[in-house]
Amino acid sequence: MPVPLRQSVRVGTYLARQRLTRRDKFPLLVELEPLFQCNLACSGCGKIQHPDHVLRRRMPVGQAVTAIEECGAPMVSIAGGEPLIHPEIDQIAGELVARRKFVYLCTNALLMERKLDGFKPNPYFAWAVHIDGLRDRHDASVEREGVFDKAVSAIRAAQGCGFRVTTNTTFFTHDSPQTVRQVLDFLNDELRVDQMMISPAYAYEKAPDQEHFLGVEQTHALFREAFAGGRRRRWRLNHTPLFLDFLEGKVDFPCTAWGIPSYSIFGWQRPCYLMADGYTKTYKELVETTDWDSYGRGRDPRCDNCMAHCGYEPTAVLATTHSLKQSVRAIAGR
Ligand code: SF4
Ligand code: SF4
Repeated sequence: MPVPLRQSVRVGTYLARQRLTRRDKFPLLVELEPLFQCNLACSGCGKIQHPDHVLRRRMPVGQAVTAIEECGAPMVSIAGGEPLIHPEIDQIAGELVARRKFVYLCTNALLMERKLDGFKPNPYFAWAVHIDGLRDRHDASVEREGVFDKAVSAIRAAQGCGFRVTTNTTFFTHDSPQTVRQVLDFLNDELRVDQMMISPAYAYEKAPDQEHFLGVEQTHALFREAFAGGRRRRWRLNHTPLFLDFLEGKVDFPCTAWGIPSYSIFGWQRPCYLMADGYTKTYKELVETTDWDSYGRGRDPRCDNCMAHCGYEPTAVLATTHSLKQSVRAIAGR
């Protein structure tokens, strides 16, 4: 299922402009992290291990807006930590929407119903709710009972208010093709969210749980079987068909980490959302001072099991725009 037409046209125009101006490295989407604090403590998380004085920091609204304007990306995913803890998160989202950026607000949904009033339904704004599985599986993943039910209730409340609601699901070794199908069937058919994002978990060095991250072969096998029988065409997945082919092992790609960069309270993170080899003040400086060729599978051992969308979805998007056949597939959602 393709993204909304307005967003496709906007991103297509942006990509064409980059090509016309011969800009060879540019951001498609920024992972904006205006804080690292969270109201959950998942063992697979690589974001909440910072010391308390860092967890207490909040990015000012002006700093967030300036960073996004400097890089020029058409889409922003606001993550964290838990963004809804940030007291000015509605203003950050509002300022970006006012600049016609497509904003995804990623949340574990614990505070979502209470904070819905601070946001307005808008074609440029979508919730992205973290749901790792059905009730038992999700509550085990976030290590607290009742979170799944709260998230489902918040999604229904947001849908009732007219918001666009998407979800984000991370899969680990304790998932099977059946659990993948169960959660995607539920989100697609029962909750009827607008779109779903999926990702194999990345083995954050700082995450306390290091045993449940998928390797490349496991990821291929998991998605190949989960997608079998034409199911993936039925699900409203928020990915290019080529990225889904990549997850299944039908194609392989190099990493294009500059396409989905990460900006946090520390600055632009080198090289990506998942690893921190230093920070720069501007996106321009990030692009110009990072040795991009030294990252990716086969180049850096920390990248060996990475199939995350922040590295490989931009590669899939660029490959799609360079091929008429793939562009037609993407438009048709195949
Ligand atoms: S909800 Fe997200 S940010 Fe919070 S601890 Fe879990 S994985 Fe980390
Ligand atoms: S492969 Fe790319 S996206 Fe993945 S960890 Fe390495 S640099 Fe980051």
